[in-house]
Amino acid sequence: MTPTLADIYAAAQVLRGVADGTPLVPSPFMTEAGGQEFLLKLENMQPIGAFKLRGAFNAVASVSDAPGVTCCSTGNHGRGVAFAAREKGMRAVICMSELVPQAKVDGIRALGAEVRIAGRSQDDALAESLRLVEEEGLVEISPFDDPAVICGQGTIGLEIMAKRPDLETILVPLSGGGLAAGVALAAKAIKPHIRVVGITMDRGAAMYESIRAGHPVEVEEVASLADSLGGGIGMANKLSFPMCRDLLDDVVLVSEDEIYHAMQVLYYEDRIVAEGACVVGLAAVLTGKVKLSGPTATIVTGRNLDMDMFTRIVTGQDVQLGDVTVEGKPYRRAA
Ligand SMILES: *Cc1c(COP(=O)(O)O)cnc(C)c1O
Repeated sequence: MTPTLADIYAAAQVLRGVADGTPLVPSPFMTEAGGQEFLLKLENMQPIGAFKLRGAFNAVASVSDAPGVTCCSTGNHGRGVAFAAREKGMRAVICMSELVPQAKVDGIRALGAEVRIAGRSQDDALAESLRLVEEEGLVEISPFDDPAVICGQGTIGLEIMAKRPDLETILVPLSGGGLAAGVALAAKAIKPHIRVVGITMDRGAAMYESIRAGHPVEVEEVASLADSLGGGIGMANKLSFPMCRDLLDDVVLVSEDEIYHAMQVLYYEDRIVAEGACVVGLAAVLTGKVKLSGPTATIVTGRNLDMDMFTRIVTGQDVQLGDVTVEGKPYRRAA
């Protein structure tokens, strides 16, 4: 049941012309800062504004004879499922918690999907989604713990390795681990000694805590600048947990202050508008938490952010996250 490189190549066929071929561009500033060539894989350029279209489209493509599909989501997976279901003329019901930013809810509704807001956590949203499976016969598409989803995300690894087989390190934003599992599987099947490091925020780092414990554990879900990285990995996780445990060389945590600064860096230095989730790899390098030994790539995973919050960050204002204040600072290039 664990996917193989051949499954990822098959996914690439399904995604051809729909969710493929995003640019891999150099970041001169990050190259200077990290001391090694540093590349950005621009998944923020996907039609739905995030890489999640790859996994969602690949998974929905294989659904037949069902009245529709459903999922829980921190926003971007739901948008991918909504897009894919619309292509197929299928009903989609996206279940999300109250923590999901309004911009993401609006984006999903605009694609014609139904939205259910259920509870304060991904677990609550998942429970609602599973209820729809029971009661209405919808097919659930997990955001990360599904072989078709993992293989869809893994096509990013294929594209990166096809362009730059000389890479030594890939830094992957990590939440439920579908992206990291797929990218690590593809990259290591092609180049066994490449280093793949998962990076996530230090508040509610479910995969990090689970790998340390040796089994899936629950974490408290809190608001983060990297909202797309929130949520648990599912206590019944079958695939993304063992794959991340076995394939990732390391998992590194970054703070909200570090994410805030790295969002300013990506904006001012590379002129890219992207979510907090995208910059965790940059933050890990800028803080010295990850040392680079050769050409490195990270994945700019999505651009579906709240523009009011983004404006506050790039203008150096404070940001309120639940009961935590991230103190603002105008951007200054480190000396
Ligand atoms: C979902 C998501 C991630 C993390 O992907 P996982 O497969 O859950 O680890 C990272 N960045 C963005 C923008 C996302 O939407």
